[in-house]
Amino acid sequence: NADAAMYHAKKTGRNNFQFYSVDMNAQASLRLAMETALRRAVEQEEFFIHLQPQVELETGKMNGAEVLLRWNSSQWGLVSPAEFIPILEDTGMIEHVGEWVLTQACNSFLNVKDKLADDFKLAVNLSGRQFKGGNLASRIRYILAETGMPTKNLELEITETMLMEDPELATLTLSELSDMGISLAIDDFGTGYSSLSYLKQFPLNVLKIDSSFIRDVTSDKDDAAIVNAILAMSESLGLMVVAEGVETIEQLNYLKQHTCQGAQGYLFSKPVSEEQFYELAQKDTLI
Ligand code: C2E
Ligand code: MG
Ligand code: MG
Ligand code: MG
Repeated sequence: NADAAMYHAKKTGRNNFQFYSVDMNAQASLRLAMETALRRAVEQEEFFIHLQPQVELETGKMNGAEVLLRWNSSQWGLVSPAEFIPILEDTGMIEHVGEWVLTQACNSFLNVKDKLADDFKLAVNLSGRQFKGGNLASRIRYILAETGMPTKNLELEITETMLMEDPELATLTLSELSDMGISLAIDDFGTGYSSLSYLKQFPLNVLKIDSSFIRDVTSDKDDAAIVNAILAMSESLGLMVVAEGVETIEQLNYLKQHTCQGAQGYLFSKPVSEEQFYELAQKDTLI
């Protein structure tokens, strides 16, 4: 009857609410615990970097590498960047950690430099927070000078969102970095809200096609159409292209046939330690 139904609804409703709220509390306290642990992670030496090769498809040679931050927490073990990078960003810690990553990256590059091509690009991810700091270019200039890193070998990866949030600040900052001789790449291209023609107003060098378009590029007509359009337009705009998340020979063959210049993905190598990277750097080809 109606009363019983009402009672049932109230009861489950309340139970649902309680379950939900307990779950939210657990999530919030885990986040708080991670935040606390992250505040000490640099001094506790829990951070390290991995390097993932980028490959020139025509030759199979490694012509660059992306630097990826790793956190080995004493409490939780290896934590995914998808989990801890947002905490570093929300709290502003990413400004300090980002500079730590760049310093480590430069030192790793210098350790392996002898095995790398002259125009090798070491790609470091930037967060919007670092971008908004205002004095990004001078802080980077300082780190490059301090470590002895050649400016021409550095590439910085930024996202479409960072450009769109404040296009005027982005234009100013990117021009400064570009004038220093640093290469600029758009990361995860296609997932944000910008267009290639809009991107033309920024001094960009590289466009990284997001892995979500590469995954089914050989079987999904829509993904193939998007990838083909990005390749055609970036060629006419003079941008170099790197496909992200290449895992199969089929994807590789598709990209080669459609004259994509570069790629990165597990097919060539996972992100690896500096020692493993040193070994990879001595190979003539990664294909
Ligand atoms: P991202 O910049 O787009 O980096 C590429 C991600 O794809 C990396 O994930 C890499 O490990 C993964 N990946 C590469 N090849 C393959 C593949 O073939 N298959 C699959 N499934 N994945 C592949 P990771 O290391 O988990 O990093 C995730 C994101 O965290 C990065 O995405 C980047 O946005 C952010 N991140 C990582 N390190 C840093 C950093 O030092 N600073 C900042 N600001 N963000 C970082
Ligand atoms: Mg990246
Ligand atoms: Mg990416
Ligand atoms: Mg990504």
